[in-house]
Amino acid sequence: MFIFANIMANDNKLQNLIGHCKEYGFVFPSSEIYEGLSAVYDYGQYGAELKKNIRDYWWRSMTQMYDNIVGIDASIFMHPTVWKASGHIDNFSDPMIDNKDSHKRYRVDHLIEGFAETLTIENAEIVLASMDKLLAANDFTGLKQLIEEKNITCSVSGTCNWTDVRQFNLMFATEIGSVADEANVIYLRPETAQGIFVNFLNVQKSGRMKIPFGIAQTGKAFRNEIVARGFIFRMREFEQMEMQFFVRPGTQKEWYEFWKEARMKWHLSLGIAASKYRFHDHVKLAHYADAACDIEYDFPMGFKEVEGVHSRTDFDLKSHQEYSGKKLTYFDTDINQHYIPYVIETSIGLDRTVMMVLSEAYEEEDLSTDDKQDSRVVLRFPPMLAPIKLAILPLTKKDGLPEIARFLINQCKPHFKCFYEEKDSIGKRYRRQDALGTPFCITIDHQTKDDQTVTIRYRDSMVQERIALNEVKNLIMDKIQMFP
Ligand code: ATP
Repeated sequence: MFIFANIMANDNKLQNLIGHCKEYGFVFPSSEIYEGLSAVYDYGQYGAELKKNIRDYWWRSMTQMYDNIVGIDASIFMHPTVWKASGHIDNFSDPMIDNKDSHKRYRVDHLIEGFAETLTIENAEIVLASMDKLLAANDFTGLKQLIEEKNITCSVSGTCNWTDVRQFNLMFATEIGSVADEANVIYLRPETAQGIFVNFLNVQKSGRMKIPFGIAQTGKAFRNEIVARGFIFRMREFEQMEMQFFVRPGTQKEWYEFWKEARMKWHLSLGIAASKYRFHDHVKLAHYADAACDIEYDFPMGFKEVEGVHSRTDFDLKSHQEYSGKKLTYFDTDINQHYIPYVIETSIGLDRTVMMVLSEAYEEEDLSTDDKQDSRVVLRFPPMLAPIKLAILPLTKKDGLPEIARFLINQCKPHFKCFYEEKDSIGKRYRRQDALGTPFCITIDHQTKDDQTVTIRYRDSMVQERIALNEVKNLIMDKIQMFP
């Protein structure tokens, strides 16, 4: 009963969050006036700022805080052979199953996981362990048997009338040039990583990089996800933030552990409690990996992957060397040896991180007192990530107060994003800023004209205090620093 109540509460939270994101300009369904496009979303004016701030924080955490990591920006289109060499043409597929009555297609692991969520913890663990074993062995007959044995039904038809389990490639293909024949097929990249591998030597040589070193990149990736649900958690067009770290063969285990820990520290630096994260070690390793884990966050739908840390061996560089016929070795002057480096990858979804930050920040707070019912929706973003850092609010539209507010904005806006508003009561304006996640509001009132002080109001505590007008800019700059 308790579990059921919890699921309902979380379900409501997700629905409320989605509604809030739309109402306040964070995330809109794509092409909404045409009824939307499944699993494709647009970021609105505040969502785009939030997303950009998260991207910047990741980018600077990698390329500024580590002096042996550099960033690149490779294109989305790549030579088609890249995807042959990377294994995506042959292996980038998920086992799927169709319900014969509803014709609805499911990813097999999602179908079984969904079923497991309805069981007690012990029984769920047994079912998931069987699934992991069958997936690891690519035993599709066994997976179908498991689904039938457990009488797992389709949510639409309610029947257990399934097709065989089949593989389905997730890459989007299109054509380059004007002639539509086989030779012109080109793919939208399903991950950003390959843009790093094919540029490994360019960066290493032009940047005179010495191993160990990393190459970071953020950018769009595309996957024809079959079951696309969970708001911006699983999309067909999304953004990744990936870093490939090139190491000497034999040292990959140590570096894998290093990056697991470093990435978890990054997550905790977002002010999110350690209890909201967990590692999930992969049982079925991808064709390129010798170790891999996910960092999972406790989303409103439960613990789900937000980032992967993968020890990719020398698979990618070796394979590109083979397919391209170009040598991709590195000469290690410390040991006088040529070798193909091993790679540790950290791969985090930007949109999933946006969703994590939103889920974490969203709170419906009851502020009722004995004599008054009251509540607010507040987004408690870490100040460094908030779309608007400072709202500047003159108490009235007259008496020279807007002029002082404009003076303050002009002082602050070269340094951080400000927002000006003079409509509505001050209480209403504060609540609107709470809903946008603005950590600080400054109110200019008549006293400001006399003593050059203003009221600062803190979003989280709602505490208000007076400070000097000329201290505002430095105070806010201090509070929004990414690396204090
Ligand atoms: P999943 O098992 O959820 O499909 P994955 O293991 O295939 O994810 P990776 O290939 O490791 O994911 O990609 C790295 C990261 O990219 C993921 O941790 C996730 O944050 C993000 N990502 C992957 N697919 C999507 C998607 N369809 N929509 C949004 N983000 C995604």
